[in-house]
Amino acid sequence: MTERYEVIVCGGGMVGAATACALAHGGIKVALLERFNPTRQWPPEPIDIRVSALTKASQNILEMLGAWPGMVQRGVCPYRDMRVWDARADGELHFDCADTEFNELGHLVENRITVAALWDQLDTLPSATCVTPATVVDMQLNENGRQLRLEDGRILEADVVIAADGRDSALRAMAGISVTGWEYHQDGLVATVTTEKSHQFTAWQRFLDEGPLAFLPLKNGQCSIVWTLSSATSKNHLALADQDFLQVLEQASGGILGKMLGVGPRAAFPLRFQYANSYIDQRFALCGDAAHAMHPLAGQGVNAGLLDAAAIAELVIQTRQENRPLSSSRFLRRYERWRKGDNLMMMSAMDALNKTYGVTAKPLIGLRSAGMNRVNNTSLVKAYFNRYAMGLRDDLPKLAKKQICW
Ligand SMILES: Cc1cc2nc3c(=O)[nH]c(=O)nc-3n(C[C@H](O)[C@H](O)[C@H](O)COP(=O)(O)OP(=O)(O)OC[C@H]3O[C@@H](n4cnc5c(N)ncnc54)[C@H](O)[C@@H]3O)c2cc1C
Repeated sequence: MTERYEVIVCGGGMVGAATACALAHGGIKVALLERFNPTRQWPPEPIDIRVSALTKASQNILEMLGAWPGMVQRGVCPYRDMRVWDARADGELHFDCADTEFNELGHLVENRITVAALWDQLDTLPSATCVTPATVVDMQLNENGRQLRLEDGRILEADVVIAADGRDSALRAMAGISVTGWEYHQDGLVATVTTEKSHQFTAWQRFLDEGPLAFLPLKNGQCSIVWTLSSATSKNHLALADQDFLQVLEQASGGILGKMLGVGPRAAFPLRFQYANSYIDQRFALCGDAAHAMHPLAGQGVNAGLLDAAAIAELVIQTRQENRPLSSSRFLRRYERWRKGDNLMMMSAMDALNKTYGVTAKPLIGLRSAGMNRVNNTSLVKAYFNRYAMGLRDDLPKLAKKQICW
């Protein structure tokens, strides 16, 4: 028997779960399909290796969805300062929450915490159905909408399907949507480290020849590192014994947090620049990494995805409230116009920054350092960058402005 919904969201990661949650708050009959049943409980230590810096705009969305208290209860860590500096020259940037109306610039949160808190919320919303384990293996368009077939043979149907199934989105391929992009031939090496000096609730980022090394503050006093390295160096660093790795890391850190005292498991994620050439098709939309994969150097990937989630949910709910059919392509086109340009601008900025720091010619290094100092010393420009990094820009979806959209 075919199960029928108004919307099916495929992919129950941070973006898909947020999309389903927003739709269900708006009374939309929604199914969330996810390959793996997400973990909701775990021992307090160790901190998971996958951590994201969430902006104020993302926090607003998660608060409006009711997930934020569950995240705070599981543990989030504010960062109040951000210090970025160039290892090759004297350029530096310093953002301080004291220059804003907020007590922090954002929060560092384990990805599993965001997912668990959203799934907890979904359990409380009567119009949401979570289907897991559920792997979508086929998608067809028919006169009733989109029909999905799961690996176990179940068939589900909806007026609209939203794919939030990640960077290698199977549904994007099933819809025949192509992508543009390239491999960076760089990895993001991640690990949790113990440092001699306190992180001071500051996000530290040092630009080195192969890419930036970030130390991000965690709730237990440790730091999460995200180290952009060439694929070859990353492979080499993964293979080092802990003590040797800590030595290399300490050197790369420029001693900013003193001695590196301990490190947990390490993992490396190959980095790619990629965007879907279209965010939509008939009765179909892409959200999150399925639509755009960007360099993590400014920690914006999931923040952009949460804005996608808030935007598509707002448009679906509005379409229903105006008694227009969800088969209409109008709200999908609005979604694409709304989010694609914003995401492309963010991705291109990250890409340009990464390239700027890849240069080794001395005059260019001097130029980039001078640029950095110019931004740092020009309060209006700095305030603009700061608000942009906090996700507080024009044309935000309602949820990101702490307004309800249902
Ligand atoms: C090293 C590194 C550091 C990062 N740091 C930050 C940061 O600080 N801040 C930030 O904003 N971003 C950061 N990012 C980016 C961020 O991790 C991603 O943007 C985010 O995880 C994307 O979320 P998503 O929900 O779109 O996709 P995913 O997290 O990939 O979730 C997709 C989900 O879909 C499910 N799925 C896939 N296929 C199917 C199928 N066929 N059927 C059913 N389910 C399916 C998967 O199981 C998965 O749960 C970082 C990325 C990296 C690599």
